[in-house]
Amino acid sequence: MNILLLGAPGSGKGSQAELLEKEYGIVQVSTGDLLRDAVSNNTDLGAIAKIYMDKGELVPNDLVLELLSDRLKNRDCDNGVIFDGFPRNIEQTELLEDLLVERERELDIVVNIEVPFDLIITRLNSRRVCSGCGKGYNTITSPPKGENCESCGGEIIIRDDDREDVVKNRLDVYDKNTKPLIAHYSQKGIMINMNGVGKIAEIYEELTQYIKEKKVQ
Ligand code: ADP
Ligand code: ZN
Repeated sequence: MNILLLGAPGSGKGSQAELLEKEYGIVQVSTGDLLRDAVSNNTDLGAIAKIYMDKGELVPNDLVLELLSDRLKNRDCDNGVIFDGFPRNIEQTELLEDLLVERERELDIVVNIEVPFDLIITRLNSRRVCSGCGKGYNTITSPPKGENCESCGGEIIIRDDDREDVVKNRLDVYDKNTKPLIAHYSQKGIMINMNGVGKIAEIYEELTQYIKEKKVQ
């Protein structure tokens, strides 16, 4: 099963992906995570990407594609992939199409998670992340039990691009570049629109219900 999660920053794609991974045994592939890994490993690609990420701009397509196509070669992607954060503009929808055709796969479901912008801003302001394993927390809805990460003991930090001025630009970039993807995929008849306001578990319940109805393997 290959799933694409669409939605603005902070719409909850990562939280839903974590749950899907566990239940369906398919891996989440987040281009944001791949890029952050490249940055923290001090690669040349990471150094260039960081300039864009720190401003909330999209990283050039060729760089993201290089990371993504490498990642998909890993055997753990054989069962299926949850695409999180890619595609983010119309050109990337074509790049993804090509990658899938190469692998003789196709997207089974596209899930568009909708959350009003004012709530997104609140969520991003309260978002925290483990610097060790990347686990997500939220100071309002899912605070860590202690000072450090519950999974790995790592330090819990605010992501550089969750700072207020950068958040504003990320939302503008989403509106301009990524929003048109909703129309693109709804034409294909494989997209579900989901209300992303509510408890993570409830949204997940609705999502898995839909997957079952579609009878996707
Ligand atoms: P969010 O969805 O919360 O904004 P991500 O972790 O998905 O966060 O992405 C963080 C940053 O990484 C983006 O603002 C952008 O600079 C870069 N990025 C991630 N995915 C892509 C992509 N597909 N194309 C271009 N840039 C990307
Ligand atoms: Zn951790």
